[in-house]
Amino acid sequence: MRRILVAGNWKMNLTVEKARSLAREVARRTREGAAAVDVAVFPPYPYLLAVAEALSGSPVRLGGQDLHWEAEGAFTGAVSGAMLREAGCRMVLVGHSERRHVFGETDVQTNKKVHAALNHGLDPILCVGEKLDEREAGRTEQVLARQLAAGLEVVGGRDMPRVTIAYEPVWAIGTGRTATPQTASEAHAFLRRQLAERFGSDTAEATRILYGGSVKPDNAASLVGQPDVDGLLVGGASLDAESFSAIVKGSSPPC
Ligand code: PEP
Repeated sequence: MRRILVAGNWKMNLTVEKARSLAREVARRTREGAAAVDVAVFPPYPYLLAVAEALSGSPVRLGGQDLHWEAEGAFTGAVSGAMLREAGCRMVLVGHSERRHVFGETDVQTNKKVHAALNHGLDPILCVGEKLDEREAGRTEQVLARQLAAGLEVVGGRDMPRVTIAYEPVWAIGTGRTATPQTASEAHAFLRRQLAERFGSDTAEATRILYGGSVKPDNAASLVGQPDVDGLLVGGASLDAESFSAIVKGSSPPC
């Protein structure tokens, strides 16, 4: 049985004080509410230590938004997996569409980051997703298959329990245009079949696949209600404790 994960990507937003109070509020509401759902937040790097402190003793997990594949060295502006671990992270986003399409990150670099995460004790969330022109050209499955295979190159089945996949159609991120439950469901089922071909059906069945792209309190339940949707990666709506908690609540399995 795959546990639902709801993850909040705070991107390049907030101030340290706002991040701290958002983290406290998410922790408080998570303690009170949905123990059946895993919750994680991904603050900007300079706020990690403050957020780690605010989350201390709570079940909310902390993650980094990205990492460099090298452990240390002359990589100005970059942050290593070891640094994220030291700051209290246990998870990390890899290959987010903004990394791929704003910063030009390649599949090869994404794969190196997945390995760096695993080697530094961070559970990677590998993000994949097609752009609008790729969907309109009927190339969605081709893009997803390529990003998934490349991102997981030389990752063994033994490490797969630590890997989460996030399907994030680029046209749905930050646009208010959410994928319909059926569109999400088809993409997730496709990704799971790809995982089954590569790692076998047991591993594929056990791997969590999140949906991300304009998730809001009013569409969370219908998305998580799809058989292959195992949670949500939330951007904008994770910046407000009330809407994030409503998404967590809407994603919780009925008692
Ligand atoms: C994201 O940042 O991964 C994301 C899905 O953003 P939003 O929810 O704002 O579309």
